[in-house]
Amino acid sequence: ETVINQIAAGEVIERPASVVKELVENALDAGATRVEIATAGGGLSLLRVIDDGHGIPPDEIPLAVSRHCTSKLSDDIHAIHSLGFRGEALPSIGSVSRLTLRSRTAEADSANEITVDGGKVGPVRPVAANRGTTVEVRDLFYATPARLKFMKSERAESSAITDVIKRIALAYPDVRFSLTGTDRSSTEFAAVAPDGEGLLQRIAQVLGKEFPENAIPIDAEREGIALSGYASIPSFSRGNALNQFAYVNGRPVRDKLIAGAIRGAYMDALPRDRHAVTALFLTLDPELVDVNVHPAKADVRFRDPGLVRGLIVGAIRHALEMSGM
Ligand code: ADP
Ligand code: MG
Repeated sequence: ETVINQIAAGEVIERPASVVKELVENALDAGATRVEIATAGGGLSLLRVIDDGHGIPPDEIPLAVSRHCTSKLSDDIHAIHSLGFRGEALPSIGSVSRLTLRSRTAEADSANEITVDGGKVGPVRPVAANRGTTVEVRDLFYATPARLKFMKSERAESSAITDVIKRIALAYPDVRFSLTGTDRSSTEFAAVAPDGEGLLQRIAQVLGKEFPENAIPIDAEREGIALSGYASIPSFSRGNALNQFAYVNGRPVRDKLIAGAIRGAYMDALPRDRHAVTALFLTLDPELVDVNVHPAKADVRFRDPGLVRGLIVGAIRHALEMSGM
């Protein structure tokens, strides 16, 4: 079982940032309004995610760290709307680290805690804690030294973690996120309204307030596929594409087709080595896109890639033209 989980971890858990993604998604699935992330050593020595979500009932705590146990398959609607559904993340993480999960529901009289050390699951113990869930991961990959060797610098792992939080934060403006590291740097995104105004505020929090000031609103639709968001004016470009944020049905994605469409849209406006800054949201019938091509990859597969590309290129070019660029 531990070996199976370690193999699964090899697929899903590439680096500390992948752990953060899984834990934060679990917090959001639990309806959290506040998510606190703390890290040390680029996330390799410590990762802690605290949420104020609905928590896990005491009797389900051992299940949460067991393979293929998920509370999210019970009804189809919930399965589509929640981020995780494989029941693989916690057992995978626990098989390659020292994991502690502490959780309390509103109804329970106390919180309970369980530990998983290199795949070895300990007993459930009552502890004191507020409602919600805390997952602490120490010594990530200590149980798989070969994987540990592939880690980049502490700094590179830390910035990958920040990037994951930023990408998720843009999709949940009404959730407060805070991220602290050992270097005393901290990032905080205060909760804002779950409407267009709030989204614009969150975009400013995440991408800097200069971005909305130097961006054009995008709003287009083609054959039932909607595209909205903001794209920078050509003079507000970057030397890399890290500040291109894209979402499909509310999920952060990193997709070649979308990146290529953005590049195509700015082809005449930007030199090859410059990149636009974007926050783009695609909304389409879930039947027309597979967002779960690979558990750890943010690639998506569109039923009609040409249509999506045409929509993005057309909408950005049109917006640039309208604003006289
Ligand atoms: P999945 O998210 O695919 O269901 P995970 O391994 O990530 O699988 O989590 C297993 C289960 O543990 C979840 O289905 C959920 O019931 C519970 N769980 C994990 N994290 C949390 C959390 N932060 N708050 C509430 N429940 C959680
Ligand atoms: Mg999950």
